[in-house]
Amino acid sequence: VKQRAPVVEAIAVGNEILSGDILDTNFQYMARELRDLGIDVARHLTVPDVKERIAAQVTESLGRADVVLVTGGLGPTADDTTRYGVADALGLELHKDPDTVEGIRERFRRFGIADMAVANEVQALFPEGSAILDNPNGTAAGFRTETDDGRAVFVLPGPPRELRPMFGRHVAPWLEANRRLPVIAVRRLRTLGIGESMLAESVAAWPFGIQGVDLGYYPQDPGVDLKVTARGSDRAAVNAAADRAVGRLRDILGEHVYAAERISIGRVVGDLLLARKSTLSLAESCTGGLAGSLVTDTPGASAWFDASIVTYSYDAKEKLLGIPRALLESKGAVSEEVARAMAEAVRNLRGTDYGVGITGIAGPDGGSAEKPVGLVYIAVSDRNGTDSFRTSHAGERVTIQRRAAVTALDLLRRRLLRTGGPT
Ligand code: ATP
Ligand code: MG
Repeated sequence: VKQRAPVVEAIAVGNEILSGDILDTNFQYMARELRDLGIDVARHLTVPDVKERIAAQVTESLGRADVVLVTGGLGPTADDTTRYGVADALGLELHKDPDTVEGIRERFRRFGIADMAVANEVQALFPEGSAILDNPNGTAAGFRTETDDGRAVFVLPGPPRELRPMFGRHVAPWLEANRRLPVIAVRRLRTLGIGESMLAESVAAWPFGIQGVDLGYYPQDPGVDLKVTARGSDRAAVNAAADRAVGRLRDILGEHVYAAERISIGRVVGDLLLARKSTLSLAESCTGGLAGSLVTDTPGASAWFDASIVTYSYDAKEKLLGIPRALLESKGAVSEEVARAMAEAVRNLRGTDYGVGITGIAGPDGGSAEKPVGLVYIAVSDRNGTDSFRTSHAGERVTIQRRAAVTALDLLRRRLLRTGGPT
């Protein structure tokens, strides 16, 4: 029998979190996933790697919550005490699971270690009656223990690349099968080139007469993500409401929407180039290669990305790109003319279909009344000509660099959309 919507608390274990050395990104991940399931986390706490403190916190959380999620401290070393603390809180003995011992041995053998250290066998200890949750990316299996009155404690390892797939494999499906969750549909739209207030004004007619939908704004620096959440009692109706709302938003926002869900601008540009069988090269100054880094974050970028040439000095711009010294001296390196020359030069030098030039003032020094810090010229060149843009960005140096790099890719994206088919 499914119970009411669950009250969930999350406990992170780790001195490293309390000391500020790492951030609890595991929680961020889990909370987002839970929200997509329609569950709001009631509390989020962090305790040190101390058995008694872990036990006390699990006991306290179980006093309020239906489901407690514990992460970290499942490793084989002396500072990994989570399994002991949780077992104490539940008043359960730890039992060694022979299959898990064998599994850990096997994993060690695959990495060429015949004799596994005895210490690793502690990772096969679980509170009696636990369900063991396998970990495809590590030796530390997790576990789920249920209390007599139907509460559940999930314990998962700390490394994010182990925790994330385990959440999707063991926690989300269990919640869906064993707890009554609201019927919910979540859709994301990512926008660039329109500020939050302009965005809000554009969608003033929200929710367009559609029942049961919410709209959230999530600034991304740069850009704003929109999240549509539809709730109701009927799955098909909820999905349809979410899709209708997204369709209306897309109609209104047009080209400002660059992606759905969590797709990056680098991937969007890559997909557009790929579809047009076109190639790209970049000439960067103030972004120092960041635009190139954003595009190479996408797997398979070699199919469409050729080079980013970082030319910082006048000399580099002259020798590597062939920008005339006279132009640099008369207009200044940060100028529309030089941005255009950079885009055209890199495109010709590299023989790519598209060339992008970026030159600006990232600060904090070097600004003037005429050319303030944050001013960045961006040019996009293809065989039909070159467009150039005077853009300005607020923030500290690295923020300006990031905003400029993303804006350059966004301007390229808009050009690609208008170009349509292969160039
Ligand atoms: P291991 O076997 O690797 O020791 P573990 O389950 O014992 O796994 P911890 O010792 O708590 O996990 O953490 C291991 C590493 O995982 C930490 O150094 C940290 O880099 C990362 N980590 C742990 N907890 C978190 C968290 N809440 N958010 C992000 N990263 C975390
Ligand atoms: Mg550890």
